[in-house]
Amino acid sequence: MKILVTGGAGYIGSIVTEQLIAAGEEVVVFDNLSQGHRAAVHPKATFVQGDLQDRPAIDALLETHKPDAVMHFASKTLVGESMQEPFLYLGENVICGLNLLQSMVEHGVKRFILSSTANLFDDPERMPIDENERIVPGSPYGESKHILERFLHWMDRIYGMRYAALRYFNACGASEERGEDHHPELHLIPIVLQVAQGKREKVTIFGDDYPTPDGTCVRDYIHVLDLAQAHILALRALDKGSRRYNLGNGQGFSVKQVIETAREVTGHPIPAEVGPRRPGDPDVLVASSETIRRELGWQPRYTDLKDIIASAWKWHLAHPDGYGE
Ligand code: UDP
Repeated sequence: MKILVTGGAGYIGSIVTEQLIAAGEEVVVFDNLSQGHRAAVHPKATFVQGDLQDRPAIDALLETHKPDAVMHFASKTLVGESMQEPFLYLGENVICGLNLLQSMVEHGVKRFILSSTANLFDDPERMPIDENERIVPGSPYGESKHILERFLHWMDRIYGMRYAALRYFNACGASEERGEDHHPELHLIPIVLQVAQGKREKVTIFGDDYPTPDGTCVRDYIHVLDLAQAHILALRALDKGSRRYNLGNGQGFSVKQVIETAREVTGHPIPAEVGPRRPGDPDVLVASSETIRRELGWQPRYTDLKDIIASAWKWHLAHPDGYGE
């Protein structure tokens, strides 16, 4: 199959591209490099630099490359930023997705995979969170993904477009060659590893007065290679119908557990101090991924936090300056 990967120069998109190529698929990456890195794009992928706000560029892309399926990673992804700049998310994220869908309909491309998010579930009634949980987006970021999921419902119903919406919990870890390199870095595991690398003095724990066993927030950290596997399984199952899956490894780890495990893995003391809560952080977010396990046989390989952090650490040691751009 030929797959168009938007955002294929970004963290998750570049690793899914690499895994698609390893699985024998042909990949065209479309990325504006606003956050991604040219060096992250697999050398066997065709790279096209462009922006999803540019409808004629998308039309030209689909006409030239005629993909069988699209995986849509290109997006603004920061919950906090979306609370400061809601129009970037409710506007740009939504318009870019809509441009892509409209162009796909016009070019007869009928398979779509959306990077969606745990931020759809701001006020869960049950933990772990399964696909029957009611959707309460936690921010304009989560809302933008919810809107795209709703668009997809209508694309399926009206045009027979088959889609999978994959709601990631906390993506982390690295492959041998690709890893996480954000500017600025705001995610817990890479920040903790930057302390171990001597790039930061300490990590600040955002609140230790949550109703959790050690008072710090609990999250479901899912390895990016397990995420990539879920994309490949979802792609192969698309022709049997559209799906929505929550994707996590099903176990929660607290901020303090992450820091403690990183100390073990890196052998560095990783100084930590407790600061105020970060607005908008729910106390616990853990996924139930029973549905994708049952329906597609998905089996995460990295369920041990130590292995997840070790894989990220290995990449950071081999790439002390990330992609160096
Ligand atoms: N966190 C923290 N200090 C940091 C960054 C994150 O305590 O410098 C916490 C954050 O409050 C959350 C968890 O670590 O409970 C994971 O945050 P991250 O930003 O990595 O992912 P999110 O859960 O926001 O998607």
